[in-house]
Amino acid sequence: MAGEPQADCLFCKIVSGDVPATVVHESDTTYAFRDINPQAPTHVLVVPKAHYPDAASLAAAEPAFAADVLRVAGEIATAEGLDSTGFRIVFNTGAGAGQTVFHAHAHVLGGRGLQWPPG
Ligand code: AMP
Ligand code: ZN
Repeated sequence: MAGEPQADCLFCKIVSGDVPATVVHESDTTYAFRDINPQAPTHVLVVPKAHYPDAASLAAAEPAFAADVLRVAGEIATAEGLDSTGFRIVFNTGAGAGQTVFHAHAHVLGGRGLQWPPG
């Protein structure tokens, strides 16, 4: 069923606690943890607890969960002290855009200068 945990999904396993992660936030609908291969001094991933393959499908099926992910991304940026210097929220979507884990997730990146366009 849509949104149900997937046995072969890494982020579902992190949400369930079967795979360890450095958790920085949890709510009824969201989970956030530090990226294992950080691309900036702060690099946190925010995921919906429900399994959807990418941000667009999450927003189409469960817009309130998508809003929760965005709100938490902003709260984490504030908690990490990024709101004054700027930060980036990234949803890689599709293998051609660099998505490697097909459970919707927001990257929250900051703590260094961020180039635009990102490449
Ligand atoms: P993406 O390439 O947009 O799908 O992002 C997936 C992200 O998950 C990458 O930045 C990885 O470094 C990160 N990642 C992979 N495995 C883990 C893990 N076990 N714990 C935390 N982050 C992970
Ligand atoms: Zn999943």
